[in-house]
Formats: sequence, structure tokens, C-alpha cells
Amino acid sequence: ASQQFKENLTLVATHEKKLELKRSACPKPGPGQALVHVRATGVCGSDVHFWQHAGLGPWKITDCTALGHESGGEVVAVGEGVTNVSVGDRVAIEPGVPCGKATCNFCLTGQYNLCPTVDFYSVPPKDGTLTRYHVHPAGWLHKVPKSMKWAEIALLEPLSVCLSATLRAELKLGQPVLITGAGPIGVVQLLCAKASGCSPIVITDLSSERLDFAKKLVPSVNTYQVDTKKDAKTAAREIVDVFTNAADMGVQVMPEVTMECTGVESSIHTAAYATQSAGLVFIVGVGKDFIQVPFMELSVRQITVSHLFRYSNTWPRAIRLVAGGVIDLLPIVTKTFPLEQADDAVRHSADRTKFSVKTLIVDGEE
Ligand code: NAD
Ligand code: ZN
Repeated sequence: ASQQFKENLTLVATHEKKLELKRSACPKPGPGQALVHVRATGVCGSDVHFWQHAGLGPWKITDCTALGHESGGEVVAVGEGVTNVSVGDRVAIEPGVPCGKATCNFCLTGQYNLCPTVDFYSVPPKDGTLTRYHVHPAGWLHKVPKSMKWAEIALLEPLSVCLSATLRAELKLGQPVLITGAGPIGVVQLLCAKASGCSPIVITDLSSERLDFAKKLVPSVNTYQVDTKKDAKTAAREIVDVFTNAADMGVQVMPEVTMECTGVESSIHTAAYATQSAGLVFIVGVGKDFIQVPFMELSVRQITVSHLFRYSNTWPRAIRLVAGGVIDLLPIVTKTFPLEQADDAVRHSADRTKFSVKTLIVDGEE
């Protein structure tokens, strides 16, 4: 039956910091696995980092590792014992597969993102999903409605990050919310805050192009361009002025929650000063091993600081949000490349001289 399949094509990053498109035979699914023809994959900042640094934090590429973990596709074969998906199904690939053992506290309590032995596809030694044919544990594939586009299915992954953040931060109707950073995560966080009914919403970035993009995506958002020559207290004061003017109620309005989507120290400082007392600085961004925080400011104003490591149990909700029209992910895609040019796609996404938000790689018809 495997004659019907084409040659496999996979984008790998090597330990020599090169991108290579590798050709191989189409793999076969084993028991409990399904073979997915990956139809769309989003490029993530971590793909660029793995390529340019041959690793990320504690994870090193020792030979080569396939990139990609934001993927959707079609099931084209199933292994023995697979019952949850069948050939022809459109599926989203959940890329973090935890151990699931009865001895794992985190798997048992539904916080499987924290499983200490989670396999995350695209983090070495696990290969990613930026390939034509990907074999995946069938239980970590989510069947989606036929109405969903391949790009939407792929972008359920960054939506899962922001959905997880939104649920944990408990964003609410009428709540003033600050989002720092208007990259792919910041703008998906913006869509989530808008869908949660937060108001006013202010988003910051260094780049006026990214702020313009955010404004096009959600016209009601207020933007604030960060000038790194200004200190964090000044930036925070100006951001609070934006909130106050947007609310226009004759009283000062500060964000109850700040969704920090840069991982940059100065932005975390600004978040700490701008957020209302007893509020929440929810840090989605990741950065250096050690970052200073304005400790006394956070302490005397009783501000909670929270962090995020990916997501758990988000896919079914994310699918309903997109299929139900609550969140439209398609406008965040700024450029699409065919799989045969996947290396160019990653280079494009990394090129700071070219505007991009989400770069997508597709194989076959849209
Ligand atoms: P990105 O680098 O594309 O976007 C970050 C944006 O922040 C850029 O547009 C940049 O101009 C802006 N920025 C930089 N310094 C700033 C400052 N001082 N003030 C305001 N804006 C500033 O990254 P992304 O893909 O959007 O991801 C955002 C962050 O989220 C990254 O740190 C990423 O690693 C992290 N992330 C975390 C998780 C998690 O599970 N916690 C998951 C995915 C991504
Ligand atoms: Zn576990």
C-alpha cells in the first residue's frame, strides 16, 4: 500500500548550524501510531533558534533534528490498534507527548506539560513535524472539523500557548489588559484577550510595523511603541496614560493583568510598574537564565507574577474556538512557502530586514 505515497521530505537543522532538506522513504506507522501527511506547518521562533545555535537552552543538536511543531494534516495510514482517528481525517498534531505513567504526578493530575520526561517533537532527540509524512502517537492527534483550513489547524499550536495563558490568567470581560510584545505570540494573545472581552487592551512593541499589524488585526486595540532610551518607570507611566485616555472616565485606569510576551528584562520591568496593585504579571515570554525584577515594587503593591510552560488540555477548546469562528488565526499568516522551500521559509522568518509575523509552510492544495 505504501506505493501510493511520495518520497518523504524533511527540513532538519544540523549541529553545524545548517538547514538541510532531506529525502527519505515514507515511514510506516507502528502499533498505536498514525501516519499523517502534514499539510501546513508554522515556523516558530524556537525553530530559528535551534537552527542558528544548534540548540536551545539545555537541548543540543548532536547530529541533526527535524524542525517544526506547529502542524496540521491528513491521516493517510494507521497502525495496529488505532481507533480514535482513521484515514482521511483532518488532524491537529499535539507535539508534546508526556510519559502517561501511573507513577507520574503531573501526567496523573492533568498538568502533563510538566511531565519531566515529556517528548516534545522538534526538541532533540525528538524530530519535529516539518516533514511531508510524520508518524505520531495516535492519541496525541486531534480530529478537527472538515471546515477547518490546514493553516488554521497548524496554528492551533500557538493558540494553545495563548489559550493556556488566558485560562491561567483568568482574563475577564471588561478587564483592562496590557500585552507586551506584538510578535506571533503577542498577537495571538491579543486575539484571546479580545475574545475574552477585555477592555481597554493596550499592546506594546519596539517595531511600529508589528504594532500596525496588531491594530489591523484588532482595530479596537491601543498601541504603545517602546523606546529603549526611556526607563521602565517612564514607559509604564506613558502606558497607563494610554489606558486612562482610552477608558476616558476621568479616573486613572491601569491594567489589572499584563500578559508579558517578550521575555525581555526591560519589558518585564515595565510590566511590573504598569500593572495595577494586586494585579497579575503573567509572563509567557522566556529569556535569560537569570532576570532581575523590581522586587519591592512587586512586593509592596502585592502583584502576582506567574509563568507558563506550554499547555495541557487546550486542543479541544482551541479547535472549538477556531471552528466556531470566535478566533480567526488566518490573518496572522504573513507569507507561505511550499515544503520544497522550507529552508527559505525558516530563513525568511529569521530575517529581521523583512517584515513577518507567522511564516507558513504548506504541502499540496490549501
Ligand atoms: P518574537 O521575538 O517574534 O516577538 C517578540 C516581540 O517583542 C518582538 O516583536 C519584539 O520587537 C518585541 N519586543 C522586544 N523587546 C521589547 C520591549 N522591551 N518592549 C516591548 N516589545 C518588545 O517572539 P514570539 O514568537 O512572539 O514569542 C514571544 C515570547 O514567548 C518568546 O520569548 C518565546 O520564547 C515565548 N514563548 C513561550 C512559550 C511558553 O510556553 N512559555 C511558548 C511559546 C513562546
Ligand atoms: Zn509523565
